[in-house]
Amino acid sequence: MTQKILTSIQNISATFIGTSNAIDIDSVSIDSRSLQNGPKTLFFALVGANTDAHRYIADLIAIGVQNFVVTHIPDDCTGKANFYVVANTLSALQQFAATYRSLFAFPVIGLTGSNGKTIIKEWLNFLLSPDYNVIRSPKSYNSQIGVPLSVIAINEKHNLGIFEAGISTVCEMDKLEKIIKPTIGILTNIGTAHDEGFAGVSDKIREKVKLFQDAQVVIYNKNLAIDALISSEISRFCWSYTDSNASVLITKKGILDKTVLTVQQENTQFEIKIPFQDEASVENAISCLMVLLYFKYEKKTIQNRMELLYPVEMRLKVKNGINNCSIIDDSYSSDFQSLKIALDFLESQKQYERKTLILSDIFQSGLPNDVLYSKVAELIVSNRISRVIGIGETISAFKNMFANCTTFKNTAAFIADFENMEFSNETILIKGARSFQFEEIVYLLEEKTHETVLEINLNAISYNLNFFKSKLKPKVKIMVMVKAFGYGNGGLEIAKLLEHHKVDYLGVAFADEGISLKNGGINLPIMVLNPENTSFSAIIQHQLEPEIYCLKGLYAFLKIAKQKNLKHFPIHIKFDTGMHRLGFEENTLNELITALKGNSNVQIKSILSHLATSDDLEHMDFAHSQIALFEKLSSKLMTELQIKPLRHILNTSGISNFSDAQYEMVRLGIGLYGVSNDAQEQKQLENVGTLKSVISQIRTIGAGESVGYGRRFIAEKPTKIATIPIGYADGISRGWGNGVGFVMIKNTKAFIVGSICMDMLMVDVTGIECKEGDAIVIFGENPTVTFIAQKLNTIPYEILTSISQRVKRVFYR
Ligand SMILES: *Cc1c(COP(=O)(O)O)cnc(C)c1O
Repeated sequence: MTQKILTSIQNISATFIGTSNAIDIDSVSIDSRSLQNGPKTLFFALVGANTDAHRYIADLIAIGVQNFVVTHIPDDCTGKANFYVVANTLSALQQFAATYRSLFAFPVIGLTGSNGKTIIKEWLNFLLSPDYNVIRSPKSYNSQIGVPLSVIAINEKHNLGIFEAGISTVCEMDKLEKIIKPTIGILTNIGTAHDEGFAGVSDKIREKVKLFQDAQVVIYNKNLAIDALISSEISRFCWSYTDSNASVLITKKGILDKTVLTVQQENTQFEIKIPFQDEASVENAISCLMVLLYFKYEKKTIQNRMELLYPVEMRLKVKNGINNCSIIDDSYSSDFQSLKIALDFLESQKQYERKTLILSDIFQSGLPNDVLYSKVAELIVSNRISRVIGIGETISAFKNMFANCTTFKNTAAFIADFENMEFSNETILIKGARSFQFEEIVYLLEEKTHETVLEINLNAISYNLNFFKSKLKPKVKIMVMVKAFGYGNGGLEIAKLLEHHKVDYLGVAFADEGISLKNGGINLPIMVLNPENTSFSAIIQHQLEPEIYCLKGLYAFLKIAKQKNLKHFPIHIKFDTGMHRLGFEENTLNELITALKGNSNVQIKSILSHLATSDDLEHMDFAHSQIALFEKLSSKLMTELQIKPLRHILNTSGISNFSDAQYEMVRLGIGLYGVSNDAQEQKQLENVGTLKSVISQIRTIGAGESVGYGRRFIAEKPTKIATIPIGYADGISRGWGNGVGFVMIKNTKAFIVGSICMDMLMVDVTGIECKEGDAIVIFGENPTVTFIAQKLNTIPYEILTSISQRVKRVFYR
């Protein structure tokens, strides 16, 4: 263990309980799933509103992790590892990082602001990396947890840091400042993100500039409100389009798809070109330019490098690949830290056993190449990568360090040999430095379909799950309904996430849904709501658990159970308490009891019923009568059979509205997917699915011309029309056409004109700056599924589950 890590641990003021304090630690982890966890990991058991990493400690000890920072030692773990006991594990992590950072003395750029942080960080890395060994926050690691993790990755060879700080409410920045300790501050655009946490704009700025309290200089777009809030002891290096008091005055003009900036600083003036036109990118580029000017780069170098700025992919994306592969596209960076993150992400996908890593040379590790590539080799082994394809001169030279590895001198050589390689039924992580242009490899491997996707935010699902868990009384279990492909969002991927979160049960509608989850590797118990008698054998074979709702079904199942000589096979008994859909009625209770008394082939795992009006407080009395009848029927069954199974009657709305009836379990459905029937609650959930497409073609039609089948739209004036490749066969209701509905293009509404076709629809984009290939949003944060459902006189459930399976699902975190 290095002295610096030792010093940092000592500074968290923990009580040490363990066997050997002289431990050897080389990495820090908060992610129980990471395959990189091992004997040299220091694991911080973070506790969130509803997540508690203490429950994974026993599992981690089993795989060899020895060192934990905890608030308490879990019962079964005493004496089995080293524990640093603290009052708050997040504060300890932050303290650890702050100490660690204080032991390094190179310049550090700290970025904050509402927009553009990650892009500016990535661009600065690109612009400065020819001259520095840069350590930067990976992806958008800018939170109370992300910042410490970023800083902990510093090593002896780095000589410039770039870290971003994001806050959502007051008091957070002080903590981040202590960890980042920037010497150079950049305040990016102050927009409206996270406004709820602040009283007003100046509150927000005041909080943000706390990041710069000990900086030598702050770079920002000159503005009087900001000037007033920055301490007079800090020097300012600001730019403006208009204010000649700024250190740098900039004028801009657009030429084709580029922008030419005229830069005037004191007595010098010169021009640079950047390959963007939109205002946000131009501002972000100017922030980068200011850093180059502050570092006194030559005009020529600035011009050359700025012209090469590129669009930044903000997050890891999972895409469908050729031959059933799935592809994780991280083709824009290749440094050691982001490789670790990408490998963790790969593992969390758990899509296929077989995993291929396509990796370019790695830059800026700060390590000598032999040390670097042996560390990479270790990572590859611990993440159980089946095959490595190395591209680049350096990685080729270290080929021997990897098992099952093919190498190529450059990307072109790989592409030339592509036809001779096999890619099928595997997950492929594509990770390369920008200069390797791995986007060409992504293009080759990507399944070519039309460009409509439903993007699913897995973090939002976790968030919503925890939100509902927080409403449960202690010990109440949770079954999550993943029927109909997880309400249209993707069945297996979501089930895997839920398994990680240790939910207690999954619920599906039909046996084949359950079978495909089991075949996909899901081990959670799965209840089948509507098992047909013909599927009973398959249910037993795949260890699914049927809901039994009538005598006929019961007798059929008991017969098979007896034939197969089953012992205590789990079943679930459903009562009809007023929904009148499925379930035993009161008058069949005695026969039910008789049939089950003394039967040891099956075991009643749970008793359930379903509310008809949990979302409608007008029918409160009805719901209460259902709950009362459920209480009566289930109690009688339990007494007569002398059993104590789980009982459950609440769905999403029930969890919120009838918390007294949680019994031993609840069944969460739509809420997980970010939709609530209650407007207030809706605000507390995170959006999960975003349905996106692109513009295929744009044309302008004259007054009097029409659009689409039946000429339902006639232009009154010259009108710009864009065609989008999504139609009613993809699940867009025809009722949403003809001026009722709209899509969002660059945050502007574009109304649908004419009738929606099977595979396409047309929108009016007059006055909206857009071009063919631009992305559009059909639903997501705006408009929401709930909004569309209201306008179409239906419910969000129908909108979500209607999106057809031909629309590609893309999952990201
Ligand atoms: C679908 C379903 C649920 C979940 O309902 P939500 O309103 O989506 O929470 C619960 N129980 C049963 C029996 C269901 O069919």
